[in-house]
Amino acid sequence: MWPWGHLAVAYLLYAGYARRRLDSPPLAVPALAVALGSQFPDLIDKPLAWSIGVLPGGRTLTHSLLVAAVLLPPVVRLAARLQRRGVGVAFAVGYLSHLAADVPPAVLTGEFAGARFLLWPLLEAPPEDPVGGLLDAVLHYYEMGIYETVQFVLLAAAIFVWYRDGTPGLEYPRRLLAGASERWRAERPR
Ligand SMILES: [Zn+2]
Repeated sequence: MWPWGHLAVAYLLYAGYARRRLDSPPLAVPALAVALGSQFPDLIDKPLAWSIGVLPGGRTLTHSLLVAAVLLPPVVRLAARLQRRGVGVAFAVGYLSHLAADVPPAVLTGEFAGARFLLWPLLEAPPEDPVGGLLDAVLHYYEMGIYETVQFVLLAAAIFVWYRDGTPGLEYPRRLLAGASERWRAERPR
């Protein structure tokens, strides 16, 4: 799945969780944490495999449930210690949704080989086409098909829900921009 598909799946899941469990739309920092968690496995594995070459594939180390089981509880505990348990939970939801969304649809028809990465290194990760770095992957492997269209539909749905939720997380870049423009106006020669 592409980054925007992961972002959409994670936000929709977390927004549902927040409304059910917390009885509110996602707050700003958890919304940012869910976005980061939704990209985290690819931010680690893809560069380490495709650019540096220390991992055998782009869905290995942090795509493994075994690693997630070791990594996520301390993250949630640390966030709880900082009185930010909700942020840790949001990161975990984003992270786990990434692993679930990377499982190919063929699994539904009994083709489980594509989900082997979930138990790496006990099981070998599924083979992947040779990639000459991150940019090569984007330029040469992107093809528009049904799977990609579904991801754009999910993204549109997520943007709609995020907007309805009051655009949580947008206040930070907005504040940064407002501060920068104020500084620019104050420093401008008259
Ligand atoms: Zn991934």
